Amino acid sequence: MPMNEKAKPQNCGVGTEQEPEAGICKVCGCTDNHACYDPDYGPCWWVDETYTLCSHCAGPEDPESLAALRLMDSENEED
Ligand SMILES: [Zn+2]
Ligand SMILES: [Zn+2]
Repeated sequence: MPMNEKAKPQNCGVGTEQEPEAGICKVCGCTDNHACYDPDYGPCWWVDETYTLCSHCAGPEDPESLAALRLMDSENEED
């Protein structure tokens, strides 16, 4: 008779990280129905194919992001 045999190893809090859900920004939690709003650029848009990162949360290294747009616009303003 097995004494201490466990069918499955216990998951001791490792790998409990939640998978980002498509359609919900993993940073701010916005959705298509509740998008972030920027007075200059309007509601946010998705910058990744899986719809887990919105333009307002993405960094300037992402060319689709709001930050990148802002950067471009500020550079164009130099005249
Ligand atoms: Zn966001
Ligand atoms: Zn957003």
